[in-house]
Amino acid sequence: MPMYICKCCSFSTILKTNYTNHMKTNKHILKSKINVTDNTSKQITNVNATSILDKDKEIAFLKNQIEKKDKQIETKDDQIEKKDKQLDMQTKIIEKLLDKCN
Ligand SMILES: [Zn+2]
Repeated sequence: MPMYICKCCSFSTILKTNYTNHMKTNKHILKSKINVTDNTSKQITNVNATSILDKDKEIAFLKNQIEKKDKQIETKDDQIEKKDKQLDMQTKIIEKLLDKCN
């Protein structure tokens, strides 16, 4: 069973000296650097994905708010219509009363 494993190079050895030597090779240094860069770019992607999700949630929330406001406006419109009808009725009554006075 290998005791020392370098994951980035898929390198394994039972001898510590071999492992230490491997760590000093250009091949390993290069590979480990690439891996570090990979991790960094993955982290950035994750941050972007999270912020996009947050934006989606924000947009969904705002859409919900707009829908609620739309419904409120509809209700207000209904109320205004009713008031208009009441005003019409009252105007007619006043007109009739005025007619009687004349
Ligand atoms: Zn290595």
